[in-house]
Amino acid sequence: MRRTGAPSIDFRAHFQTLRFLIEQGIKLPIRATSGPTQGEIEWRRPCRVSLQYLLKNPIYAGAYVFGRRPIDPRRKIPGRPGTGHTTVSPEKWKVFLRDRYPAYITWDQHQAILDRIQANRNVCKEAGAPRRGAALLAGLMTCGRCHLRMRVCYRRDASGGYDYVCDRMVSERAEPVCQRVAGHVLDDFIVQQVLKALEPASLDLSLHAAENIERQRTDLDLLWQKRLERVRFEAGRAERHYLRIEPENRLVARELARQWDQKLAAQRSLQEEYDRFQRTQPRILTAEERETIRSLAADIPALWASSATTNSDRKEILRQVLDCIVVEVVGRTEKVRLRIEWAGGTHTEHEVRRNVVRTEDLSYWPQLVERLREMVAQGLVVEQIVETLAAEGWRTSTGADRFRPAHLQLLLKRLGLRLRHRMDFDPSVLAPDEWWMTTLARELGVCRVTIFHWIHDGWVRARRSMDGRWVVHADEETLSRLRIYRGAPHGRHARRRYLQERSVPNPTEEPIAPNGNGVLMPRKMTKASEQAVRSVGTEAESGPRPGPSARSARSSSALRAFPHCA
Ligand SMILES: [Zn+2]
Repeated sequence: MRRTGAPSIDFRAHFQTLRFLIEQGIKLPIRATSGPTQGEIEWRRPCRVSLQYLLKNPIYAGAYVFGRRPIDPRRKIPGRPGTGHTTVSPEKWKVFLRDRYPAYITWDQHQAILDRIQANRNVCKEAGAPRRGAALLAGLMTCGRCHLRMRVCYRRDASGGYDYVCDRMVSERAEPVCQRVAGHVLDDFIVQQVLKALEPASLDLSLHAAENIERQRTDLDLLWQKRLERVRFEAGRAERHYLRIEPENRLVARELARQWDQKLAAQRSLQEEYDRFQRTQPRILTAEERETIRSLAADIPALWASSATTNSDRKEILRQVLDCIVVEVVGRTEKVRLRIEWAGGTHTEHEVRRNVVRTEDLSYWPQLVERLREMVAQGLVVEQIVETLAAEGWRTSTGADRFRPAHLQLLLKRLGLRLRHRMDFDPSVLAPDEWWMTTLARELGVCRVTIFHWIHDGWVRARRSMDGRWVVHADEETLSRLRIYRGAPHGRHARRRYLQERSVPNPTEEPIAPNGNGVLMPRKMTKASEQAVRSVGTEAESGPRPGPSARSARSSSALRAFPHCA
């Protein structure tokens, strides 16, 4: 707000103006309508209503108006004569005559104040006053699909993030959310554009900033001079009253002397306040202050990022430069089209990238799948695919320039693409007659767990490779033996126990010869198997038979030593 004859300070919000007046101790003149001082001017502390009246009344711009707030009989409350007032537009005023009074502000300034108040309303059609939230583009974002104003949605988690959301139709027509864009992506890009646009004007900015500060301080000093003049006048009048009283009227003289003392004390107090104000804010900027302003204006990005610059200040600057920003997300992809409407009527168009949750939402997902298929068909391992994608410039869903191997393996799994392992291509990893466990399991037609059992029981020899994979030694003889194990019927364990309990020799119980190194088939039974078989025989002869679970475990442990029995 700019006032003539008062501080030339621009405020965007009504409340900012009120707070400034309170902080500076500036009072507003009010003509008393009742009481002992009825009809006289009283200087009172401003409040919201009085300031609003001052800002909206065209009389301060020199216009005579009648019928600005007509009474609507339907809104009148019986017994309360002051009710029923409504506000109508200027076209409906009964009398409107400009330039009939001495004006404090020009008519254009008055209209600018009204426009500002209108724009500060917290409704969806207006941008609203800038507030202290982190979203710098709040009130400036417009949806490119439905052309409605987008609102800010602050997240409730610890990230402190926020989104610009077009969801007005959710509450009005129960439609789904139109679009949602992460706030920091757009804020960062728009701020870069604005700072780039402001860079050539840094010198002008420093000059204007210095002029503005000096003008504000000059106007504030003028206000202080008027307040000082007023208290001096009142003290002088009290002095004159006291000097003119006859000495015989001692009671009256004593009262006048007390009033004179009060006025003198008020004058002294105000003078001390003015001296303090002058010390803190001299009317003319010092050389040091000018240099500070010039250096700050020369480095606008540093000034923007300074801790002394509040989010409200940043929003204020953005609103001075931008009219609005039209946003449209291309489908569900990472592409966001921006149209920046600059103050002054020009516009620029841009495209920025946002993060998406699913890789499948990327605009280049079909091309990426095709490339992955090609690389898998070429036999590349995960590390090679990661390097190739990074070299070719493929970005992840979060904008990273390199895929994580685990993430890439998940993607390939979802696509049904099977990678060969890196070690599969290194012939030096496997010695003669050595197999990868998976390969051997596939060769024998068994699952990996079966081979683990064989390793645990000592029927095959195995080791770990450098990357932790199992390598199993199995020559031709071992393979043929393992095929016999695999082909043995499932009921062989129970059958063997049955035969042992009846001491019937099993004609098929032929020990398998060792393979030379004693790994595949020990000539002797293991201690566990010997003990298990012995205990089975002993229990069958003397004691009661154990429960089914213990019996099964023991017999299974014992008979695993003779898996070839069928
Ligand atoms: Zn929309």
